[in-house]
Amino acid sequence: MRTPGTETEDSEIIVTIDGPAGSGKSTAARQLAVRLGFDFLDTGAMYRAVAWQCLNSQIDLQSEDDVAGCARDLKISIGDGKVIANGEDVSAAIRTPEVTEVASKVAINTRVRDAMVRLQQNAAKGQNMVTEGRDQGTIVFPDAICKFFLTADVEQRALRRQQELEQQGQNISLEEIRSQIAERDQRDIERDVAPLLPAEDATLVDTSQMSADEVVDHLEKTVKQRCGRDID
Ligand code: C5P
Repeated sequence: MRTPGTETEDSEIIVTIDGPAGSGKSTAARQLAVRLGFDFLDTGAMYRAVAWQCLNSQIDLQSEDDVAGCARDLKISIGDGKVIANGEDVSAAIRTPEVTEVASKVAINTRVRDAMVRLQQNAAKGQNMVTEGRDQGTIVFPDAICKFFLTADVEQRALRRQQELEQQGQNISLEEIRSQIAERDQRDIERDVAPLLPAEDATLVDTSQMSADEVVDHLEKTVKQRCGRDID
């Protein structure tokens, strides 16, 4: 179990995977990390943990100061497939539709972002890491050796999200998911700070017609072509 912010050595090989909800980046990033033998960092889970804590503590979401204070005081640990917030396992609790919506709202807060970026950069020190989010290639790891930006058409993304939610026991109509995704995309793309967009040097991958395995194969091949000698 890693507590972001406790490492001290220099960073090694960083692979960033950014993209919108349902683009397949979470599954791809997790599997790519396993194949490469790298650590994996799910940065969305960090914003979700802040959202969960804000909801749990009944923080006024309109108050930038209160939301920033909540993020500042939160102790987040991620690893072994678990997310721990202030000592509590919130791995399942942060995946509800309510937390999902609030996560993209707290992610607009500049001080929340500053705190998360610091934790993410510290977590990568001295580690080979695959990191996944919205701003990993642009803001958090601008010098990463391999950057990917995954996209997929909105219909595919909504279908994938619906299947994911079904596996968690939540049955939500495709129409509702489509509109939730569109709303979240808009907030992520239009925010002033760290908007969702590909880094100039990112490889764009449209996953609409690709299976999860095909996506990971493609990413693995690209990473190995670019820095194979350092990995093997
Ligand atoms: O990736 P995931 O859907 O778990 O992310 C939840 C929300 O957290 C996103 O909609 C986005 O607003 C925010 N986020 C972010 N920057 C990241 C990762 C996630 O703003 N690096």
